[in-house]
Amino acid sequence: MTVRGKGVMEKCSFCVQRIREAENRAKLEKRELNADEFTTACAASCPSRAIVFGDAADENWTVTQMAKDSRAYHVFEELNTYTAIVYLKKVTHPVPGGVA
Ligand code: SF4
Repeated sequence: MTVRGKGVMEKCSFCVQRIREAENRAKLEKRELNADEFTTACAASCPSRAIVFGDAADENWTVTQMAKDSRAYHVFEELNTYTAIVYLKKVTHPVPGGVA
């Protein structure tokens, strides 16, 4: 990771070095990547598991299953931005006979 000068915003690289390391390891071992074989540093260090990372193009990854959750949404979907990040809405519990 390159250290940026003062005032320069660091962008998330989705830990590309971790992705490449896992890809290279699988290649050396002459096999395909396994589902959930790697994750980002922030996902690995999050104690509440609030971040899940993976290959959304592969049905076997946890992140792909989570993206199908009824609470899943993309930011600014109405603008057709279709970002790579999927959020899950807050869980709300309906109050019988009233508004939550
Ligand atoms: S640790 Fe998280 S925020 Fe930082 S580069 Fe990796 S994926 Fe992006």
